[in-house]
Amino acid sequence: MIQESKPSILLIYTGGTIGMIKDYETGVLKAFNFKKLLKNIPELQLLDCKIDTISFEEPIDSSNIQIENWQNIAIIIQQNYDNFDGFVVLHGSDTMSYSSSALSFMLENLDKPVIFTGSQLPIGDLRTDAKENLITAIQLASLQENGDPVFKEVCLYFEYKLYRGNRTTKISAEHFNAFASPNFPELAESGVYLKVNKELLLKNKEQKKLIVHTSFDDNVIILKLYPGMNKMVFTSILNTPNIKGIVLETYGSGNAPTLNWFISELQNAIKKNICVINVTQCSGGSVNMGQYETSTQLKNIGIISGKDITSEAAITKLMYLLGQKLNCKMFKTAFETPLRGEML
Ligand code: ASP
Repeated sequence: MIQESKPSILLIYTGGTIGMIKDYETGVLKAFNFKKLLKNIPELQLLDCKIDTISFEEPIDSSNIQIENWQNIAIIIQQNYDNFDGFVVLHGSDTMSYSSSALSFMLENLDKPVIFTGSQLPIGDLRTDAKENLITAIQLASLQENGDPVFKEVCLYFEYKLYRGNRTTKISAEHFNAFASPNFPELAESGVYLKVNKELLLKNKEQKKLIVHTSFDDNVIILKLYPGMNKMVFTSILNTPNIKGIVLETYGSGNAPTLNWFISELQNAIKKNICVINVTQCSGGSVNMGQYETSTQLKNIGIISGKDITSEAAITKLMYLLGQKLNCKMFKTAFETPLRGEML
């Protein structure tokens, strides 16, 4: 009889509350040695998989995350890709939606799960949410069907739900239920059973080989419109030295002021090959330029539609595509095309 081997999972600890401990003198949460902490979680021994751990040399609060850290995670995955069946990235929740979006663009043709998780309370806390998040994330990363991983994309698991990472946004600084995926249903839900919505999952049908893209361009900005924004502020932002891309957070279905100076400043930016992406500042729904008079000019001057993308996915997709050095026309087509299930 052939013995099926257990799935092997690599835990990548980057930092975040999950592995912090409280300094009882100051009350401040600080990073700790995660490998040591894991030894105190006997439940992990009961899981039907082999677990290995790798940790950032200096774990960070995710508010400090930088492009280099994303590159570091991508390279760890690349170097260990053939030796593991799945990857669980332990990460602070504050910027987890940005990081899972960034990694989704960095990892093309993924055919194994990469699941981000973390917690609102440290793993050592009595009321912690960390154990459930960690244990179920590992179980989901180990799920296989006929020896093939069920999830072949970058996901985010938090408080009983598995989401497509690049569809998420952090919605609460204190609830255990800290994330939402306003424009795309969850990929799986953990209750008495693990319920997987198979029809929603990304597939690597042609079984193409993993390509890792680590070149990101950081000459970008997110600019949220608000009533009362004056010309000087707007103009100086658009004229930031070296700026190559702007995620413009507009109102409703992609609407913005029709003021002459506003439109002509945008037009000047586009003439200078600055890519301007229209995303909505609403938490759900899509940009639809041309639906209202207040978005028709945006469409006519060549603003790129972010459709129903989140701002987190838009800014990381922008950094990724600018890193690919596409010409302007190809850039627009590429941005408006779903690359990793991040938009309609
Ligand atoms: N500030 C922490 C971080 O994002 C919060 C958390 O871990 O959830 O690293």
